[in-house]
Amino acid sequence: MVGQARHPAFTNRDGEAGIGNRSEVRARITRFRSGNCLAPIGPRTSGEADRFMRHIAIIGSGPAGYYTAEAAQKQWGDDVRVDIFDMLPVPYGLIRTGVAPDHQSIKGVSRRYEGTALSDNVRFVGNVTIGQDVTIAELQELYDAVVLATGAPNDKPAGSPGEGQDNVFGSAAFVGWYNGHPQFAKLNPDLSGGTAVVIGNGNVALDVARIMAKTAGEFTGSDIVAHALHALQQSRISRIVILGRRGPHQIAMTPKELGELAHLERACPRVEPADLPPEDDDLFLEPGQRKSVGHLRSFAAIPEEFRADKPVEIDFDFFASPRAILGGGRVSGIAVERTVLAPDGHASGTGQTYTIPCSLIVTCIGYKTSPIPGVPFEESAGRFANDEGRILPGLYCVGWARRGPSGTIGTNRPDGFAIVELIAEDIGNGAGKAGRPGFDALAEARGLDIVTFRDWKKIEAAEEQRARDGAPREKFVDVADMIRALGE
Ligand SMILES: Cc1cc2nc3c(=O)[nH]c(=O)nc-3n(C[C@H](O)[C@H](O)[C@H](O)COP(=O)(O)OP(=O)(O)OC[C@H]3O[C@@H](n4cnc5c(N)ncnc54)[C@H](O)[C@@H]3O)c2cc1C
Repeated sequence: MVGQARHPAFTNRDGEAGIGNRSEVRARITRFRSGNCLAPIGPRTSGEADRFMRHIAIIGSGPAGYYTAEAAQKQWGDDVRVDIFDMLPVPYGLIRTGVAPDHQSIKGVSRRYEGTALSDNVRFVGNVTIGQDVTIAELQELYDAVVLATGAPNDKPAGSPGEGQDNVFGSAAFVGWYNGHPQFAKLNPDLSGGTAVVIGNGNVALDVARIMAKTAGEFTGSDIVAHALHALQQSRISRIVILGRRGPHQIAMTPKELGELAHLERACPRVEPADLPPEDDDLFLEPGQRKSVGHLRSFAAIPEEFRADKPVEIDFDFFASPRAILGGGRVSGIAVERTVLAPDGHASGTGQTYTIPCSLIVTCIGYKTSPIPGVPFEESAGRFANDEGRILPGLYCVGWARRGPSGTIGTNRPDGFAIVELIAEDIGNGAGKAGRPGFDALAEARGLDIVTFRDWKKIEAAEEQRARDGAPREKFVDVADMIRALGE
């Protein structure tokens, strides 16, 4: 591992990339900066143009990657060349494979990224996995700055005994399945049982529950992939339990997403009135949270007769902590312990346990970044070890890879602008590196099958062409099919 050999301060006792020492990061950066910053940018001759070109590699074409590219354009104008790499032949990260298929207006943000992508000084380099096809060290040789915008694509384990059983999935896998991520397209969850349990009290848990609850008709206009739509149409799930360790005041669900549950065709939410704190306590909540809790109060007040023609129930089970996943290889239930909240909001078990029989569990409890060989990693936080985005000289991270899986799409924009400010401080006028031509030579020598933005537009056109009635696209869910579409 290149980084370990060169930067032993970032390895842990086991010799693996571990938590970086922040003062060490700062010292290295300072030495690097003083060795790279040339005089302030001034008038130059045309012969000097190459010398003043900054070459930036961004790894990951999700929101953080594109906002960083946008910021680099604003910072340097014509004096920057940005290559955005992605392991998939298609851009936009979780906008394509995370944001719910029935939330098309949110996915529309990709049009903004397209504006950046189509400019001359930014290019998309798809179908290249950094850390596998090309190493970080190789990129650092070629680019003044390498920015990891790789997100946090792996599910955090729930840590419950029995977790590895069949039909227990993390949300990265389950969401990837209905959104057509090639890695999860073949997940094939079994939806034939009556009860599904969704663990977590955030928006992802709401997405998962809503998608399981909708009728085929309610997916009109969405880009849910055909295999998921078909499976959901055959689904026998009639009860979806959303399990949360804490109470209604501690949810991380936004009002709009929560409010949607009240308007589903065949499903109805249920909240136990006794779980709700006294109404006056809502006054202490910030306005958005107060609105969310208001929705829970209205769910608790839904009359039984209204439920009669709603065969699917979305049941909020608060103060409920998973203790074990039951089953003999395939999930058959979940053992849960009632909790009580301490004044600081911490949940602790009461000793009172019960079992929810179920045949499907989806955990929605957070994500971790994938480590990359040679890059210091903060195992406990599940992200790259960094100081405000600086990892090592010339190596940075941004978005979920920097701060972990929190915030909205828009949160990644200031992140992108902030990292470019740091890069500008560090690299000055650039170091006359090879940049794009250098990478192209490497890619050719290695026989990499690169997908360009123009190629992506062909894949997109093919997906639009094969869309079912009313849908914006039918995604390819297999990388080979995406590549094949280029030849058509
Ligand atoms: C299920 C779900 C639903 C969400 N819904 C919403 C919503 O409705 N509204 C909202 O505001 N936010 C939503 N978010 C949050 C939003 O998606 C994130 O804030 C945002 O996508 C994070 O951006 P990112 O660029 O850091 O990571 P990502 O979007 O994950 O992008 C990372 C990119 O890096 C690529 N990559 C990873 N490793 C490598 C490698 N080694 N080499 C090359 N490429 C690599 C990946 O293929 C991917 O394209 C949702 C998140 C999830 C998980």
